[in-house]
Amino acid sequence: MRFYVPSNIYVEKNCVKNHKEEFPKIGKKALIVTGRHSAKVNGSLDDVLSVLEEKEIPYVIFDQVEENPSLETVEKGALLGKDSGADFLIGIGGGSPIDAAKAMAILMANPEEPAADLYVNKGLSHLPVVAIPTTCGTGTEATAVSVLTNHQKGMKKSIPYKIFPSLSLVDGKYLAAARKSLIISTSIDALAHAVESYLNSKSDIYNRMFPEYAFRLWAQNKEALASDAALTEDQCELFMLTSTIAGMAIAHTGTGIPHGMSYDLTYHKNVPHGMACGYFLAAYMEVCAKYVPDQVKNVLTMLDFADLEEFRTYLTSLIGSFEISREEKESFAQAMAYNEGKLSAAPCKVTPEDIHFIYEKSLIIK
Ligand code: NAP
Ligand code: FE
Repeated sequence: MRFYVPSNIYVEKNCVKNHKEEFPKIGKKALIVTGRHSAKVNGSLDDVLSVLEEKEIPYVIFDQVEENPSLETVEKGALLGKDSGADFLIGIGGGSPIDAAKAMAILMANPEEPAADLYVNKGLSHLPVVAIPTTCGTGTEATAVSVLTNHQKGMKKSIPYKIFPSLSLVDGKYLAAARKSLIISTSIDALAHAVESYLNSKSDIYNRMFPEYAFRLWAQNKEALASDAALTEDQCELFMLTSTIAGMAIAHTGTGIPHGMSYDLTYHKNVPHGMACGYFLAAYMEVCAKYVPDQVKNVLTMLDFADLEEFRTYLTSLIGSFEISREEKESFAQAMAYNEGKLSAAPCKVTPEDIHFIYEKSLIIK
């Protein structure tokens, strides 16, 4: 058994400003990596800039990260970072800018490396990364993972490097600017992390501290998610904490089959990441229940659902259903049946028939 999440993580109100002394310890010039709009409107970029200015740390900003960041974007951002002489990165936003910053950190530390080789583990080093999450799902502030899109190969996948942020500053106030659909989708991502980490062949007593706590926190958020009302400040903080704790869970085990299945739905059908995982969760748990019924029951109990049907109905009320064609299903299921990495993460043997069952049960196939 091993416990290892080597990031300095603060989860609290105003934590960027509270921990301004940490920034000069990390580097002398920053590459700030964000999406196109949100960091400018939710206050996160302003908080970072005021700290950098106060500490007289120069910076350049790369604000072109798209959702599900591509190798091309990572290459472009890293080029700006290299040209400017930045020696650390600050990723601000959802998982996309933070994951992109992690990958840029490798290319900046290894200026001759092409972005296309990021999928090959050459044991390369990386510059330090500061993570400031503004969505409540990926937990990337607590994981070593960077998920990138490779348009040439037509796929979305994690790169094989481990890039834990040196510093993560988690403040729920940035969530106040998020639309409800984003909060729903990203908090279902956090739920998927907890479920896939708990129902996982690598799960052990250390790891389980995290999903078990995440389930209990998530149960407290169910009502707020289902209601049309805007989140209160306290709810924003709770959603953010849930996401970070679920991130710590997958930092130990990685994700499993629902995440493996989600990538095709996001890449080919444009479904947001959290929703894409959420469609497959109940059926994945149904398959696991054939082999490890007590574990599935524990998950449902901690989430405060009476049974799998209640869980399924609740998720459908949040994200509805999604339709794909029979040809698409066949091609996605075929690829998934060979995804050894994700299949081996399940706590039981999952057969190709099980994979077909999960697709049939989770999506409308026409
Ligand atoms: P995202 O793709 O980073 O952002 C989605 C949208 O939300 C963007 O339009 C973004 O706008 C906007 N946004 C972000 N924060 C906001 C806020 N506070 N208020 C209003 N709008 C906001 O979404 P995400 O779900 O967080 O990240 C998904 C990515 O993370 C996927 O690529 C997924 O595979 C990956 N992921 C990584 C891990 C990991 O461990 N590393 C785990 C799970 C998933 P802007 O573009 O303007 O910023
Ligand atoms: Fe995820």
